[in-house]
Formats: sequence, structure tokens, C-alpha cells
Amino acid sequence: MSVDVDTRPATAVPVRLQPGLAADLRAFGARDFAACFSCGTCTATCPLVDDDATFPRRLLRYGLLGLREDLLGSKELWTCYHCGLCTESCPQGADPAGFMAAARRYAIAGYDVTGLAGALYRRPRRAIALAVLVALVLGGAMLGVARTAPSRQVALFRFVPESTVHWTGVAAMVLVAAVMVVGVVSMVRGLARREGVTWKTLTAAPGRALAWSAAWSAVVSESLAFRRYRDDCAEEESARAPWWRRRWLVHGLTMWGFTGLLVATMADYGLSLVGLRATGTPEPVWYPVRLLGTLAGLAFLYGVSVLALNRLRRVERSVKTSEVADWLFLAVLWLVGLTGLVTELSLYVPGGATFGYGVFIAHVALALDLLVLLPFGKFAHVVYRPVALFFHALARARSVSGERTYD
Ligand code: SF4
Ligand code: SF4
Repeated sequence: MSVDVDTRPATAVPVRLQPGLAADLRAFGARDFAACFSCGTCTATCPLVDDDATFPRRLLRYGLLGLREDLLGSKELWTCYHCGLCTESCPQGADPAGFMAAARRYAIAGYDVTGLAGALYRRPRRAIALAVLVALVLGGAMLGVARTAPSRQVALFRFVPESTVHWTGVAAMVLVAAVMVVGVVSMVRGLARREGVTWKTLTAAPGRALAWSAAWSAVVSESLAFRRYRDDCAEEESARAPWWRRRWLVHGLTMWGFTGLLVATMADYGLSLVGLRATGTPEPVWYPVRLLGTLAGLAFLYGVSVLALNRLRRVERSVKTSEVADWLFLAVLWLVGLTGLVTELSLYVPGGATFGYGVFIAHVALALDLLVLLPFGKFAHVVYRPVALFFHALARARSVSGERTYD
């Protein structure tokens, strides 16, 4: 199918250049992208190109030319799955996949009004120190309110009051939601301006139907079912990775596992609220909420472990330039999964009380640590990517409907 490509912004806005953008991007992990001579090999290689003849090299141009707003307003930044094919094929060694990853870090910092994300990305040691400090403070606070607990049968919430864990979690969620909402608004403004999307185009017919279809595609088809990741990257990946190590599956298990754990935790709390059971007490392994939590925890731990092992072995082309922030995120995720499973184990094995309470405190502190630092690191992609995928699906839907030329 032949499709016109219009790389200009849909809405004319003054072009503002930021001369220091290339240097800034290097501080976020981009390396040799100035070597790009726009040959298009990466475009020919990338499985996610669709009809866009300028992806991903156009984003490198933005970085080199100082087009900060174009870079931050690019939905394509987030549609890339960091497979590394473009980097492998680049004749100039410009590492486009590494550039895309660095640009996403830069974007997370750019959307963050507090400035903390940028400071942490630029000073990785501070990021590690802050993550450790937050976990220690939270763990210390939990220990501070801990009571004498039974030593024969583990009873987690007779050790730390359930209300303490609950309200600390609620406070963290409110804080994080406030920061993320501001970040998402900042992102959406940039994307909408570039895409020519207004509130009116989304709410009036036929835009409303297109918006619903784009939202379904972004949330269900892409964010939950990994359709493009699974289908478009499958052929190439099937030749070099067994099914249990395929990138989409490993990412999927991590994400589905995390979602399952959230659902199980909320269901557990909901059941305790209506008096059906006490949170944190042993149940048979087939008890639905327990079963969901256990299976989700195993899937999550497996996914994170393989992600980390792939990075360690450097079996993936795209991870040649892993940053401290990537490792920190994986490390906290893995520890959350591991401490969660060991905590559950302590409910069932003899002598579980000797280690269960301590591991439980570590688990709660790490899980809250992950939540509190969500807007300021790699974890933020779970919010920003679906937003970009919405705009991507909307652009395609508008192109097909003839409402707008697809770019
Ligand atoms: S393959 Fe390398 S040099 Fe060619 S356009 Fe892509 S990034 Fe630039
Ligand atoms: S890393 Fe993969 S998905 Fe991303 S631009 Fe390169 S080839 Fe495309």
C-alpha cells in the first residue's frame, strides 16, 4: 500500500532549537548517534516501521538538530521495543536502539516537573543511594510500629498492623499519582500538538469512535497482549531464542505477573474489609486469591530473572549499553518478587517465623520503594508507553479513515 509520508507537525508551531540537546542526551546514555548519515538501513531493518519511512532515524536527527519538543512529542519514541536489530545493522555504529533508550530516559526526565528524574539519571550513584534510603526509611517505619508476633504460626498483620501498611501504600499512591498526572499532561500536550489532536477531534464524531478503538488497541492489544511485539518481532526472534526466552513472552510474564500480584493484593484486602478472612493468614494453596498470587508471583519472578540474565549475558543486541538505572529497576523488581514469595513460603513451612517477619518487612519496604520512585525512573514507562501507543493507534485509525495522512 502506498501512503504519503508527512513528517511535518500537523499544527504549525514555532521551531525552537536547544543547542545542548545532543550533549544532554549523551548524559542519559546516548553514545555515537552523531555518526548517523541517514542511510535508512535501520528503517529497512526495524520490524515496527509500518509505513513510516523515517523511523527510527528521524529521532536521531531531532537529537542532533536540537529539536527537543519534537523529540519529546514523538509517539515513536515509545513504540520501539528495544530489540536492537537497527543497532546491529547500522553501518556507522550509531547505535539507534541505544539512542532510543536514552531518549526515553530523557523524555521521562523531561515530563517530570520535580526535576528528580533528571538528577537521578545523571547521577546514578544518587539513584542507588535514594532507592536504598527510601527502602530503609520505610522498613524502619514498619519496624517502629511492629508488635510482638506469634512464633509458631506466622501472622503477618499481627506483627505489623494492617492499617499501617494500607495507609502508607495509599499515601504513596496519592503522591505518585499526582506527579504522574502532571507528567502525562505534559506528554499528552506535546504529542497532541504534533499529531494535530484536540479535545474536539477526540470527542466529536467520527473522532470519538476512532479514539475508543485507539484506546482499546493501546491498552488491550498492545499493552496487555503485546500484539506488535509478538507478531512483528516474532519471525526474527524465533531464529535465535527458544520460546521460553522470547522477549515479548518474558516482558509479558513480568507485566502479567505484576498485574496479577496487584489484583491478588487488592482482592485479599477487599475480602478482609468485608470480614471474609484476615489478610496475611495461611489459606490452602488452591484458594483462588492465594493461587492467583502464587502463580502471578512465579511468573513475575521468572520474567524479571530472565530479563536480568539476558542483560548479564548480553545475549541481546540491544543491551550492550545497559545503564545503572536499568539495573537498579531490575534489581528492585527482582527483590520485590523474591521477598514476596519467601514471605508466602514462611506461612506454610515449619519454622517460618524465624525468617518470615523480617522478609515481610523487607518486601513491604521494597514494594513501597518501587511505588514511590515510579515517576522518576524506568518504571514510568508503564504509564507513558500506553499513552504513546494510544496516539500511534489513533494516527493509524485516522489514516485508514482518511481523516488525516498517516505519519
Ligand atoms: S542505519 Fe545507522 S547510519 Fe543509517 S540511518 Fe540508521 S542510525 Fe543512521
Ligand atoms: S530497537 Fe528494534 S524496535 Fe526499536 S527502532 Fe531499533 S529495530 Fe526498531
